[in-house]
Amino acid sequence: MFDLIIKNANLPDGRTGMDIAIAGGRIAAIEANLVAEAAETIDATGRLISPPFVDPHFHMDATLSLGLPRMNVSGTLLEGIALWGELRPTLTVEALVERALSYCDLAVSQGLLHIRTHVDTSDPKLTTVEAMLEVKEKVAPYIDLQLVAFPQDGYYRAKDGEASLNRALDMGVDVVGGIPHFERTMDDGAKSVAALCRIAAERGLSVDMHCDETDDPMSRHIETLAAETVRHGLQGRVAGSHLTSMHSMDNYYVSKLIPLIAEAEINAIPNPLINIMLQGRHDTYPKRRGMTRVRELLAAGINVAFGHDCVMDPWYSMGSGDMLEVAHMAIHVTQMASIEDKKAIFDCITVNSAKALGLDGYGLSVGNQANLVMLQAEDVIEALRLKPARLIVMRNGKVISKVEPKVAALSLPGRPGSLDCGFNPTGRPARD
Ligand SMILES: [Zn+2]
Repeated sequence: MFDLIIKNANLPDGRTGMDIAIAGGRIAAIEANLVAEAAETIDATGRLISPPFVDPHFHMDATLSLGLPRMNVSGTLLEGIALWGELRPTLTVEALVERALSYCDLAVSQGLLHIRTHVDTSDPKLTTVEAMLEVKEKVAPYIDLQLVAFPQDGYYRAKDGEASLNRALDMGVDVVGGIPHFERTMDDGAKSVAALCRIAAERGLSVDMHCDETDDPMSRHIETLAAETVRHGLQGRVAGSHLTSMHSMDNYYVSKLIPLIAEAEINAIPNPLINIMLQGRHDTYPKRRGMTRVRELLAAGINVAFGHDCVMDPWYSMGSGDMLEVAHMAIHVTQMASIEDKKAIFDCITVNSAKALGLDGYGLSVGNQANLVMLQAEDVIEALRLKPARLIVMRNGKVISKVEPKVAALSLPGRPGSLDCGFNPTGRPARD
């Protein structure tokens, strides 16, 4: 006797017509034509059941602050940082918590149940850290939230930057961050990478740095990050976020760099929406895309995970907590449009992100917590195309968000009266 059986589900690995049994909040069985009793049955009607989406790079202390105290007129990264600097002295714990909780409501409705957020440690008052620690505790029943100590204004460049970051770690922040390309000099940037990796090694923590988020092909802090990772034995526990300078680097240098990243087992975390919005701003035409070399990193066996980065904040006025929107942009910017490419892109917002965050027990396997999403689409390829409704979002076997399927009522001469908006109009599977 199970608590729940979801019948007739399609899975991300291509299996169709599968039944998922849930007992005690965990996945108890996944098989075709399961014959068993259950207190409740949900018919997936051939729709996709996916593990929850995972966002490995976000800024929850800044989210939903759009327009405070003013809009970013130039739309650049640097005006965004300046604008955040204007807003920061006015922040309160209450307002930060309220905005973050609102964002988490949205995230849950989009099937996003695991988030790593960078938390600005530049202001020695650490209001942001206090607030995000409170948010982490409040959302724990439904979202796993990891916090990164992020010296937005520079570890060395900000007044008291070193002390503030270390105090944030003392307060319980999980991961060591950095922003080497924003330090005053290349040399300071490299020194900050070395110092921050040493701190992580001493404290037994992971590292996730904003690294080379610039169009400058000479911004090569990822090289230092790879070297320091190996030096301190941090392989697999370090992430390089953005890595946009790799887009502009000389090909010969990249042929040396990618094997160093692979050797260090660094997780690469591009942020497709933000990178396409903010990079190439100093170019006329042709304009660079500013997206790191996703296809080449994946081909080298490097774990690539996509982040959302921003939603309605000083850097990005758009965003909806939808990781499929992130993946949709990635497909276009990377030109990874074959079926195999798209499957790889779907992994970048699910299993690869889970790996980057070091999540245990993630995925649709017997024994794991029953965390899953039912989408109004038949497979991952269609999910990427449609960004469809998240019909059910489940955490530990309980439905925590649901929405009716989107069905358009049509009034057209000689045509059907309704259209299932998750429908594949070719009538053929979009997968192979
Ligand atoms: Zn970021």
